[in-house]
Amino acid sequence: MSKLLTFQRILPACEEGRAGAWHAFLSQYSPVAFELLNVYAPWTSERRGAFWRDALLALSGEDFKRLRAFPHQAEREFLVELRTFLFERAQPLLDPSKDSIGTSAPTAEKIAALLEGAPLLHQEIMFLKLAGYSDATLEQLLRISPSVGKAGLERLRADYAAVLERAEDQCPWPAAWLAITHAAREARKPDCPALRQLIRVLDGQISWYEKEPIEQHRAHCLSCLEHWTAVLEVVGWAKRAQPLRDPQVDALLSALPLNEAVKEKKPFFKRLFA
Ligand SMILES: [Zn+2]
Repeated sequence: MSKLLTFQRILPACEEGRAGAWHAFLSQYSPVAFELLNVYAPWTSERRGAFWRDALLALSGEDFKRLRAFPHQAEREFLVELRTFLFERAQPLLDPSKDSIGTSAPTAEKIAALLEGAPLLHQEIMFLKLAGYSDATLEQLLRISPSVGKAGLERLRADYAAVLERAEDQCPWPAAWLAITHAAREARKPDCPALRQLIRVLDGQISWYEKEPIEQHRAHCLSCLEHWTAVLEVVGWAKRAQPLRDPQVDALLSALPLNEAVKEKKPFFKRLFA
């Protein structure tokens, strides 16, 4: 249904305040936001819903100023930016004293030391594991077998054995982890490849000649690891999430500053077949 509207058409129409486009936006992207918040913010569903509604109001304020600053060309780039936007808003609301799972939370420095010299795939496995993903989700996100996943987790045994036991997708240290991802984004360097380049590598749409320096850089860059795993996360959740149901979409729509003048009637064919 909402798939009738492609990503490239949704954002510009949302910025005109069109209800139909916002319906598609909310139905497709709310579940991705909720799943990410489920992992990283230990909140009730009410609090999560209120947080998302406030985030939407922030995107829509001043004639959709913040939304206009998002990437408009590719859906995955947009979703990574949406994830960042949500993380930046959630981070100050998280309580570090609730982070403990019996093992003290990692820091960016500790993670960098832990990952040093490990193959790229193992770095991705460890990073997503420390973020709080279960083995099953890790295997899906990275498209790896359980044995490959296990091999990638070996280094965590010494200091982070507690995270290896976890069967749910839930960050054990949300406040610390969002601070780490924030620091990683802030530490981006001029030679860090653009997100678009990383996505081309991920898609295999890049020559060995171009790929080699990017992979060499990635092997030592926590910022790029954060960026790379962010793509895997949003793609994974976008695939798995079910569209938000109409009553919930309508509740969110009623909070948004829609443009009544362009509140479109249903397209003719939809009216015929509705
Ligand atoms: Zn980098």
